[in-house]
Amino acid sequence: MKKIPVTRPSLPPFDEYCAELRKIWDSRILTNMGEEHEAFRSALAEYLEMPGTVPFANGHLSLEAALAALRLPAGAEVITTPFSFVSTTHAIVRSGLNPVFCDVLEDGTLDPSGLEALVTERTAAILPVHVYGRVCDVDRIAAVAARHSLKVLYDAAHAFGVRYRGVPVVRYGDASVLSFHATKVFSTVEGGAVCTADPSLLQRLEDAKNFGIRDEEHCAAVGGNAKMNEFQAAMGLCNLRHIGTAIAGRHARAEQYRARLEGRPGLRIPARQEGVLPNDAYFPVFFRTQELRDRVYARLAGADIYARKYFYPLIPDLDCYAGSGAALAARVPVARQLAAGVLCLPLYADLLPEETDRICDCVIGALERG
Ligand SMILES: *Cc1c(COP(=O)(O)O)cnc(C)c1O
Repeated sequence: MKKIPVTRPSLPPFDEYCAELRKIWDSRILTNMGEEHEAFRSALAEYLEMPGTVPFANGHLSLEAALAALRLPAGAEVITTPFSFVSTTHAIVRSGLNPVFCDVLEDGTLDPSGLEALVTERTAAILPVHVYGRVCDVDRIAAVAARHSLKVLYDAAHAFGVRYRGVPVVRYGDASVLSFHATKVFSTVEGGAVCTADPSLLQRLEDAKNFGIRDEEHCAAVGGNAKMNEFQAAMGLCNLRHIGTAIAGRHARAEQYRARLEGRPGLRIPARQEGVLPNDAYFPVFFRTQELRDRVYARLAGADIYARKYFYPLIPDLDCYAGSGAALAARVPVARQLAAGVLCLPLYADLLPEETDRICDCVIGALERG
């Protein structure tokens, strides 16, 4: 039986990438914001309807650069979600800031009703995640931020192409961070970007990714190196031409999953969000118990189908954070319950309908036979 991985990167037609490579060979410019980079930057900004879009080498460095650009006081507290990929919390800690974990809603996004109680005089920012591409309660988060003069940085690593109330989701907050890692909806192999409408943030982001160098004789800031190179940009240019087809493919399979699995006893699939144009980045299923989740996971693996426990263990429960102040202070029962029961089923642009059926049969079999 053919192996089914949890995800499979979308690639452009081989010849299309080669045509871009030809330009790189001709120019001999491999990095430092060459022609491919600049073409990709403007195509990306246009797609995202966000003129203030800065490409980066990867999503994690985009997060660190965005946090630095916000100029939060050293040691300040950043309220964030425990239910994410480790990069979100790592970026806070590696920036000399302190994570404070807020619980989440039943769909995994930050619970805005928990925010206010976590605000102290040291709180400087909120870092929520549009987890699985689901849009956070941006209005209530903005209201809390306004009341306490906090910055809002969205980790939108899962939310490429998602629109809310007719505008791209990266429009919300002081800035949003995207990841273009090979496993994401849109990929540049490795890559990322920060989107912001704030011109001073924009300049700091440019400085952060290229040593602070402004021109041959001027170095205006102590920046690092987090540039996107020409090969990444070329992949981005090609993949961007096919993003509509890629998301449509995911959407069709996600609808198939919903039709076959929704309402089955023992599992829960979060409903579609009103006003949201989704990207179907992931297909998370929340099982009633950890035991049941693990049973389904094992049954799938036995059939050469590789689902993933995103996001388990919860970030505060990971070795590097367990026992830390932030982990001990974390009162996040909903997040903990989600982590125990979650399984992301395989989902990618060219997953086949018959493969999706095979996966559903296997899940249903594990539920019914116990
Ligand atoms: C993938 C991801 C990142 C990091 O992006 P990279 O491009 O892999 O560095 C950050 N946050 C979340 C939620 C992610 O899924």
